Amino acid sequence: MSGILYVVATPIGNLEDISARALRTLREVDLIACEDTRQTRKLLDRYEISKPLVSYHEHNEQARSQELLKELAAGRDIALVSDAGTPLIADPGYRLVEEARAQGIAVSPIPGPSAILAALSASGLATDSFQFRGFLPAKTTQRRKVLEELKGYDGTLVFYEAPHRILEALEDIAAILGARQVVLARELTKIHEEFLLGTPVELKTVLQARPALKGEFTLMIGKSNGVEADDTPVEEAVQKLIDAGASRMQALKTVARQRGLSKRDVYKQFDER
Ligand code: SAM
Repeated sequence: MSGILYVVATPIGNLEDISARALRTLREVDLIACEDTRQTRKLLDRYEISKPLVSYHEHNEQARSQELLKELAAGRDIALVSDAGTPLIADPGYRLVEEARAQGIAVSPIPGPSAILAALSASGLATDSFQFRGFLPAKTTQRRKVLEELKGYDGTLVFYEAPHRILEALEDIAAILGARQVVLARELTKIHEEFLLGTPVELKTVLQARPALKGEFTLMIGKSNGVEADDTPVEEAVQKLIDAGASRMQALKTVARQRGLSKRDVYKQFDER
């Protein structure tokens, strides 16, 4: 009889976020397939688990899947984990699970953390309907294209994002989706966990004022409330940004870009208040 492939969720930061069942499974399987053996070793050491580890990542997924499937066919149980959170969710594993299913091998999930649900659950954004789209494309043109496609979606949008691309992403969100509510969940479950709420422009202003952008970010965009066109008077929008810490010039430029106006027009309206 073939073994079972367990898909085991592991912590996204705080090592205490692992279920009793996940720990028992990691103790009982014959081997653990993981992305980075050093990363998984930290978790196993914390719980005094000693088990053979096999690396399984995007660069060896195809070849390694075949080896793991042979082990399963020979009756050995395997736990699949990723560096953090739930395997297969913007992480490797799809090929192995797909093939295991095709071969009639039992695949069993051991549920637990995933940044998507952790972020969403504490965001204050609507959770009745949401769409997770993985990482936004790295290039502006493609990123704007994806955002354009999602413009009409009536629910919360969730993305993973790299810290060095957050500012550009916020800029494109402002340009395509306008002044929607955005929530950035940073370093969830870790010491520096924080939630930043605001319009894309407000958040960009706040983040730009920081000396460095570090950590892991999950970016969420609230659904359209029909006021994306932003009907706040120009002068109020400029003042709001200045109050949030932007310089006068920065605020004038941002509002001009947001509204598709010339800097001169915005300057004039602001000065003639
Ligand atoms: N499989 C993982 C899961 O289930 O959450 C996600 C893996 S994906 C390669 C890594 C991305 O998830 C990070 O770049 C970040 O966008 C998001 N992420 C992971 N841990 C996070 C955390 N502690 N706080 C906020 N976002 C996190």
